Amino acid sequence: MLLRLRSNATAADREVLGRVARERGFELVFLGRERTLAELVRRGAAGHPGDRAAFEDLAFVQAVLEASDAPELFARRAGQPEGVVEVGAAAFGGGHVSLIAGPCALESEERLLATARAVRAAGATLLRGGAYKPRTSPHSFQGVGREGLAWLARVAAEVEMPVVTEVLDPRDVAAVAAVADVLQIGARSMANVALLQEAARTGRVILLKRGPAATVREFLSAAEYVLAAGNPKVLLCERGVRGFDKTTRNLLDLGAVAYLKRATHLPVIVDPSHAAGTSELVAPLARAGLAAGADGVMIEVHPEPREARSDGAQALLPADFATLARELAALVELGGRHLVQPLAPRARAATTPEGVRP
Ligand code: PEP
Ligand code: MN
Repeated sequence: MLLRLRSNATAADREVLGRVARERGFELVFLGRERTLAELVRRGAAGHPGDRAAFEDLAFVQAVLEASDAPELFARRAGQPEGVVEVGAAAFGGGHVSLIAGPCALESEERLLATARAVRAAGATLLRGGAYKPRTSPHSFQGVGREGLAWLARVAAEVEMPVVTEVLDPRDVAAVAAVADVLQIGARSMANVALLQEAARTGRVILLKRGPAATVREFLSAAEYVLAAGNPKVLLCERGVRGFDKTTRNLLDLGAVAYLKRATHLPVIVDPSHAAGTSELVAPLARAGLAAGADGVMIEVHPEPREARSDGAQALLPADFATLARELAALVELGGRHLVQPLAPRARAATTPEGVRP
């Protein structure tokens, strides 16, 4: 590891650095007469993913110029294959691409069931829908809360689909994990360390959304909290960052998608709905996300977008989602990957010969 010290670093600072280096199993070698460039040579024991941060945190260290020999848990080592996260029929990564779809917010059990049936028939393998909604204004609809969790549980069982729903508060993690197969940590909560750790400890898949103003590095550090808590099942979700131009709701960072696919072993998905903000732009952004290497897309679908209590403008009608799903399947196959299809429903498969994969 190579460090650059600030030009005002003192002899006492260098002594502190020497002590920290020794404690972490490094030998410290200053390069050049100015003694502002230092090489840390590992002695004996294996490195620790916290090595880099330990030196970065020292006030007199300006920058860590070369990565440590103990990369963080999210990092993809040379030759390491892509990780795969599976939940129900859905699989993300390693050539598997899956579609996540459903309403922004849960509104009623009947509407959720109808939407779930429609998105499943179109090829979605994971149902989404928020019971707890993190809204920009405290005066906007905040979601139906616990009641919605019961709807999710019943609908998931009825349509035989795993579900993803957002958890906003560490105190709700247990109740949400009791019904959800995947816990969504929303963009506004990305850096909520207590929430990340509590959610991670459930062992559920964590769908982590990038904060609207988070750097890729901050996004990865949030993922690192989940991994460091012993949960390897993380899906990174790019949903657009804050740009200077309000033509689209957010700026879908496809460079980040391509980068993350190389730099980490974690599956990456895109959410074109929150990036677009308007339904007409969802399909092209979904295609672009998959073309950039994403392992899945998450799309908001609503049977009556005009009546939606949140994000109606960006919701696709079920029929439009079905058209898009067909296009995405062709695109994925063209790239030599595979769009995962829902499993045949158990009850119908046993009784009807046509109860095969839709
Ligand atoms: C959502 O998925 O409905 C949502 C609130 O997304 P985000 O956290 O990306 O704004
Ligand atoms: Mn939404």
